[in-house]
Amino acid sequence: MNICLVSAEITPFAKMGGLGDVIAAIGKYLARDGHQVKLFMPLYNTFAANAFNLRPIRFSKQVKLNMGHKRFKINFFYTLLPGSRAEVYFVDCPQLYQRNAVYTSDPDEHLRFAVLTRAAIKLCILQNWAPDIFHINDWHTALLPLYLKSIYANESMFQKTKTVLTIHNIGYQGVFEADVINDLGLSEFHFLFDSHDLYHGKINFLKNGLLHAHKITTVSPTYAQEIQTPEYGASLDGLLRKRARDLIGILNGVDYHEWNPETDKQIPFHYSIKNLAGKRKNKSVLLERAGLYKKWLSKPMVAIISRLVQQKGINLIMAVMDDILRRYEMSFVTLGSGDPNYEQYFFSLQSQFPKQVKFFHGYDYPLSHLIEAGADIFLMPSQYEPCGLNQIYSLKYGTVPVVRKTGGLADTVTLYDWKTQTGDGFVFEHYTAEGLRWALEYALTTYPYRSVWRKIMKNGMQKDFSWEKQIKEYEKLYTELISE
Ligand code: ADP
Repeated sequence: MNICLVSAEITPFAKMGGLGDVIAAIGKYLARDGHQVKLFMPLYNTFAANAFNLRPIRFSKQVKLNMGHKRFKINFFYTLLPGSRAEVYFVDCPQLYQRNAVYTSDPDEHLRFAVLTRAAIKLCILQNWAPDIFHINDWHTALLPLYLKSIYANESMFQKTKTVLTIHNIGYQGVFEADVINDLGLSEFHFLFDSHDLYHGKINFLKNGLLHAHKITTVSPTYAQEIQTPEYGASLDGLLRKRARDLIGILNGVDYHEWNPETDKQIPFHYSIKNLAGKRKNKSVLLERAGLYKKWLSKPMVAIISRLVQQKGINLIMAVMDDILRRYEMSFVTLGSGDPNYEQYFFSLQSQFPKQVKFFHGYDYPLSHLIEAGADIFLMPSQYEPCGLNQIYSLKYGTVPVVRKTGGLADTVTLYDWKTQTGDGFVFEHYTAEGLRWALEYALTTYPYRSVWRKIMKNGMQKDFSWEKQIKEYEKLYTELISE
C-alpha cells in the first residue's frame, strides 16, 4: 500500500509528547512490512536541519500555495526516517514555522497547520504519487479530508484515496474564529463545515475531520468507548456516537529496541526477567543522582515522568503525597515540566522533604530511561489517558504501575490479585484522592513482600505491547478500507 502520514510531530525531528513517537513508529513498522510510506511534518527551527542531513527537493522549489488572499512559497526537504526506508518530507516555510516552539498561540496557528496539510497533498500531486491512505493525526492535520473534498475534488489521482484520522488526544481540537475560513482558502466551501459551529462563529478543525474522514481511530479500545460519553468526549461525544461504526481503538505499541532493560543504551546496568540484579544497581545510581538518602535503597521508590498538566492527575498527587511521604519510608522522584503551579508544587515538596523527594525539572530523555530502570513504582493517576506510553515502558522495566482505570491505562495494566497471582499493577477506578491513596498504599504495603513483588514485576515484564504486533491492526484497517 501507499501510505501518507501527516503530523505536527515526528520523533526524532520534533517530539513534544507521545504523538511524535507514535507517528515515527507507525511509519517505521509500515515500511518494514513492505509498504511505501511518506511522512510529512513542518521544518521547525527547533532542531538543526544539518544534524539530520536533510536534503532539499530540487524539483519542487518555491511551490506556490494560495490560502485565500495569502500567498505562500514552500520548499521541501527530505530524509529517511532513521533506521527505516520510510521517507520523511519537511515543509519549509520559515514565516510560519521558524518560531521558538512547535505549538504556539500566535494568531496564525490555524495557518501553520493548514499549510502543512495542503503542502502534503501538493507534493503528492507534484510527485504523481497517489496514496491509498492519507493517515492524519489530531486537529493539526484534520482538515485534509475536507481539502480532498473541496479544492482537490477533481484531482483524479485521489479518487480512490481513503482517509484515516487518529485522535491522539481529544482535549486539543484546534478551535478558531470562523473568519479563518478565508485563510484556509475554503470560504466557497463553507457548506462542508459544521454549520452549528459556523453559526456560532467558530471552526473546529478536529470536528470537521471527524465529519469527513473515512475512518476514525484512537489510541486505545477503552478511550474509543470513553470519548463517546459526555464525560470524556470534550463536546464531540455526540458526533462520535453517530460515527461509532467507523471508530476503532488501536492500542499504541512501544519500541522495545529503545525501551528494553536488557539492551537499553541509556542505562548503566542491564537486567532481565531472569536476572533482576541490575535494577537495584540502577536504583542506587538514581538515588545518587537525585541526591537522596542511600538508605532508601531497600525502600520503595515512586516515580513520575510526565508533562505536568491537569490531565495527568497532578491534583490527586497534591492531595495525598505529603501525608504519604510522612507515613512511609520511601523516596519519590519526578521528572517533568508544564503548568507553573504544578512545577511550584514539586519544588516545594522537594524543599519540604529534601531527603525523600527529588524534582528533576525539565525534559531529559536519558534520565527518563534511568528512572524507569531504577524506580520501583510508577505513578500515573490520569484523569484521562488516550493511551499513555510510560506505564507500558514501566511494565517492561519491572517498575510496577499505579494507575487510574481509564483509557489506555485500563487496557494495559491489570490489578494484582493475591489469590490467583495474576496482574501487574495497582489500579483504582474513580478519579478521587481516596482512590489514588488506596492504590498507592496498597502498592507500598505490598512492596515488602519480596516474592510477591517479584511476581508482580515479572507478570508485567512478560507482556508484549510491541509495534510489531500493533501495526497489524492498522494494516488490517487500511486493507479493509481500500477494499470497500
Ligand atoms: P503524553 O503524550 O500525554 O505526554 P504519553 O505517556 O503518551 O503522554 O507520552 C509521553 C512521552 O513523553 C513518553 O515517551 C515519556 O517518556 C516522554 N516524556 C514526558 N515527559 C518527559 C520528560 N520530562 N523527560 C523525558 N521524557 C518525557
